[in-house]
Amino acid sequence: MAGGNAIRGTRVGAGPMGEAERGESAPRHRIGYWCSQGHETRVAFATDAEIPDLWDCPRCGQPAGQDAQAPPPVPRTEPYKTHLAYVRERRSDADGDALLEEALAKLRARRGA
Ligand SMILES: [Zn+2]
Repeated sequence: MAGGNAIRGTRVGAGPMGEAERGESAPRHRIGYWCSQGHETRVAFATDAEIPDLWDCPRCGQPAGQDAQAPPPVPRTEPYKTHLAYVRERRSDADGDALLEEALAKLRARRGA
């Protein structure tokens, strides 16, 4: 749509020409968002649009921020936490099985098997 006349030889702030140039094409900002999973999302915003601080990651649904080094924390209501809790649960079950096994072994030894 821009027609490739980005370069016209006019200087920025040259007057009426500069203003016309600004309204002609629709310049866009490409903003990168990163979620805590390391997914990168590029979103194009019009220059006059308000850029949100957070963006929902389209891959995992978690909030993504503009700082790749410091992505926003995962909310406690997310399934990810539930999964962690589930892993912990399984781990303690395994410990419980081990203890039960040990107790049964002792019991068998006492019975003189
Ligand atoms: Zn993600």
